[in-house]
Amino acid sequence: LEFRRVLFRSNLRRKSLIDPLIGTWNRGAIMRILTIEAIRCDKLGVPLSLIVADLDFFKRINDSYGHPAGDTVLVKVASRLRSCIRAQEALGRYGGEEFLIVLPGSSHATAMAVGERMRVAIATQPEVIGDATVNLTISAGVASTDMFPAASTEELINRADIALYAAKDAGRDRVMQAVPDC
Ligand code: GH3
Ligand code: MG
Ligand code: MG
Repeated sequence: LEFRRVLFRSNLRRKSLIDPLIGTWNRGAIMRILTIEAIRCDKLGVPLSLIVADLDFFKRINDSYGHPAGDTVLVKVASRLRSCIRAQEALGRYGGEEFLIVLPGSSHATAMAVGERMRVAIATQPEVIGDATVNLTISAGVASTDMFPAASTEELINRADIALYAAKDAGRDRVMQAVPDC
């Protein structure tokens, strides 16, 4: 909440931090939040977790229903994901249809539960596009400082990304955890 106060000092500033389509933090903003929160959690001696989530086969939605319909779906997915997190947690658009969720103070186990809640929130209710109903799923990777105490924020994102790819490889619609490889 502190970062909101600091970042939103002017409306111009707000615009430079929020994704214009889906209304979440944009990539630059969520990266800054991650940096700030990682330092804060380290000082407090509490863990920090992050989730990288990506829509499965999203290209098909665009191909079948058109890009504007795809945009609408993205907005709806973002709002469902937001409903899974608390005020002190942050959701950002990391790439086209990829999200980065920052969970300050959350352990690895808690983050896995949040990721699973997000997966279920997307998978259990089809989205209505015109007169069609489409089933959507996400895949997600989770990485936490309690698993990687020495990791930089970049390394942590990298770990979560690798777990996301593993979730895709394993068949999608699942949440995978980054674990140390020794
Ligand atoms: P995978 O399960 O492997 O992630 O398959 P995918 O089709 O989701 O992945 P891929 O990276 O091949 O395609 C992502 C698609 O997301 C392609 C792009 O057209 C679409 N996309 C990215 N950003 C936007 C956007 O802002 N609006 C719309 N409508 N589509 C977008
Ligand atoms: Mg995708
Ligand atoms: Mg993607």
